[in-house]
Amino acid sequence: MSTRIDLRDVAKSFPAPRGLGGARVTHAVRGVTLTIEPGELFFLLGPSGCGKTTLLRMIAGFIDPTGGTIAFNGRDVTHTPPSKRNTGMVFQSYALWPHMTVAQNVAFGLGVRKVAKPERERRVAEALGAVRLSGYEARKPNQLSGGQQQRVALARALVIRPEVLLLDEPLSNLDAKLRLDLRTEIRRVCKASGLTSVYVTHDQKEALSIADRIAIMDRGQVVQLGTPRELYERPQSVFVAEFLGETNFLPGEVRGREGEAIVVRTPAGDVRALASRVPESLQRDGSKVTLSIRPEHLRVARTSSGASDGSGVGSEIQAKYVSMTYLGDQAQHTLSLASDLTLRATEVAPTLGAESLQPGAIATLACDAAHVVALPPGERSA
Ligand code: ADP
Ligand code: MG
Repeated sequence: MSTRIDLRDVAKSFPAPRGLGGARVTHAVRGVTLTIEPGELFFLLGPSGCGKTTLLRMIAGFIDPTGGTIAFNGRDVTHTPPSKRNTGMVFQSYALWPHMTVAQNVAFGLGVRKVAKPERERRVAEALGAVRLSGYEARKPNQLSGGQQQRVALARALVIRPEVLLLDEPLSNLDAKLRLDLRTEIRRVCKASGLTSVYVTHDQKEALSIADRIAIMDRGQVVQLGTPRELYERPQSVFVAEFLGETNFLPGEVRGREGEAIVVRTPAGDVRALASRVPESLQRDGSKVTLSIRPEHLRVARTSSGASDGSGVGSEIQAKYVSMTYLGDQAQHTLSLASDLTLRATEVAPTLGAESLQPGAIATLACDAAHVVALPPGERSA
């Protein structure tokens, strides 16, 4: 049986620290309403300080909300203490007992719950098997790698058979290679156990690669919620477009319609965006918009060669070639516009040689209208 989690208008404000002058409170979480489905691997993603940990700790019961309700399968747990919620927690710092063996660390929560010894041993073996650490029972934490220690922490959370698994930046202390291995491992374990899992991170790649759905947070609020693909391909704000992956922004003004496309006047000339993908509120002539075009959707050509790949409506942008970074599997081209804006284009399996694109030469960038996202103009965060 898996658990559905309903958050309704959940809020948390902290009183200002004494002695800082002014009675300011910190609104760490502001009116979050969302449903996490049974068995889902759900992510809270956002920059540091946006309220992720505070929200997760309210789901765990470590922090009392100042507003709203939290329910597990319809049962109100808003003010239920953590010990009565049956949640397992994995933190950034593994927080293992250094003097205990792996088996003792994992068994700890079962001892507290007065589970009898034979059952305890069976469940420890099962939890260690789930994280692929069978055979490591007798080791001490300092005889394990960081990744193995975090697997022990995961086993320790799983062994109590929680309804809900909560993970707070579980990979942030590990080096890059281990992070990659362990994130797929975490997804495998979550899915195999059928647990509802809530995973907090500021790392967009971690979220994109393993999440079922992601809630993107900014200053205490959820600004967009969706599958990784929806969020990456259809961001609804400059903040989300910029936070998830790299993108090029072009400020512009709507100046009419051509068939299926909305035409936007930008410092790069007229750029077409598929009308079906431009919000109704931005379609009127004169509307101010910010266009977002991912670098992988800008194609570099030396000369003008037709605006699109032939399959649809497109645009061409003339820009001055600046430089190329060759990375083997891809090349990153940098170009600049007269208005001082920089554009980045990623070429996968690169064939354009450095000799064919001289710095200072005028190059043509082609882009399909289907890959131009029109957003309400917004502040960039960085
Ligand atoms: P995140 O996990 O997204 O980095 P947090 O939830 O830890 O963010 O913090 C959100 C905001 O709430 C921050 O401004 C932080 O300083 C503030 N905050 C968190 N915990 C407390 C606390 N116990 N007392 C006062 N302010 C807090
Ligand atoms: Mg945090």
